[in-house]
Amino acid sequence: MSVWDDVIGQESAVATFSRAVTDPGAMTHAWLLTGPPGSGRSVAAKAFAAALQCPDGGCGTCHECRTALEGTHADVDVIATEGLTLKVDLARELVQLASLRPSVGLWRVIVIEDADRLHERAADALLKALEEPVARTVWILCAPSLEDVIITIRSRSRHVRLRTPPVEAVAALLVRRDGIDPALAAFAARAAQSHVGLALRLARDEGARIRRRDVVALAGNIRSVGDAVGAAADLDGIAKEEAAASSTERDVAEKVRLMETLGADPSARTQPAHVRSQVVALEKEQKTRATRSGRDVIDRSLTDLFSIYRDALVVHTGASIGLVNQDMMEQVQHLAHVLSPEQLLGCMEAIGTARERINANVQPLLALEAMAISLQLPR
Ligand SMILES: [Zn+2]
Repeated sequence: MSVWDDVIGQESAVATFSRAVTDPGAMTHAWLLTGPPGSGRSVAAKAFAAALQCPDGGCGTCHECRTALEGTHADVDVIATEGLTLKVDLARELVQLASLRPSVGLWRVIVIEDADRLHERAADALLKALEEPVARTVWILCAPSLEDVIITIRSRSRHVRLRTPPVEAVAALLVRRDGIDPALAAFAARAAQSHVGLALRLARDEGARIRRRDVVALAGNIRSVGDAVGAAADLDGIAKEEAAASSTERDVAEKVRLMETLGADPSARTQPAHVRSQVVALEKEQKTRATRSGRDVIDRSLTDLFSIYRDALVVHTGASIGLVNQDMMEQVQHLAHVLSPEQLLGCMEAIGTARERINANVQPLLALEAMAISLQLPR
């Protein structure tokens, strides 16, 4: 066993990190870990943190390894944001933290999971720490790609790139780590296009599987402008449902916990002012998170929708291996039958444009309608 067991399909990144753990000449104080969503950035970052703390370089079983992997190690801080940006106050706190010697471990490790969400001023605050390394402090910054990170930060850290892990490796991980049935794991890994977190969600949650199927099936059902408008509304609705499914329970639990911390009675009709203001602040944070999660869900739905056009294009080439939607062959064949390769490419482009627009803050429903109109099948 080793800390790298769950870092799947990343031989070259693992080799780089392992070398850094054993060879001081290969170590540096700031790392930038990039990789597409679901490639396991945070898993790899935590594994590296554990390997640095482990007296054996990452055995995976000792106390240091286990606590670092679980996120409870006293000298490993993992910063994840649910909001849209990482604020300057947080960055300043981290810089302070970075100046301290490790308390129990060999290193002080600070992992920032969403370095792409560093607010410009926050990035400036961090920069100072990156420019003046502290002897036993290591920063591990994670982001989807180099371009997502402010250039000054990029230039002061060493870049390690993760790739999309092979479908088979993702399926094997779900079987080994999560006890998922092999056939279901293979389906989920394929349908999630190797996104590990999504694959697990698809494997465990039937609702998520049904929603995905509904999204992909839209492709074959748009025959008029009316259908297109309806399909856009469906996509928007499915995304809202999915976002709500993952957030409602958590929002309620957070509120209960906050009330407990404040010693307030949740059933009381009116609350004292200090409780009210904290509740308002929490609700605001939850709303920001819901906005982000809604956008993420639409983006994922569009990735799912994209996959069936891509499959149909693959069918046109005569190949039929490596299809994402192997479980929906009838729909894939139908699309390949009614749309030429050029038309399929046009559809894929329309989906790409919608994703870009939504990322640029265009109202999702509008962007989806424009897209769906371009997805109409020939009569
Ligand atoms: Zn260990």
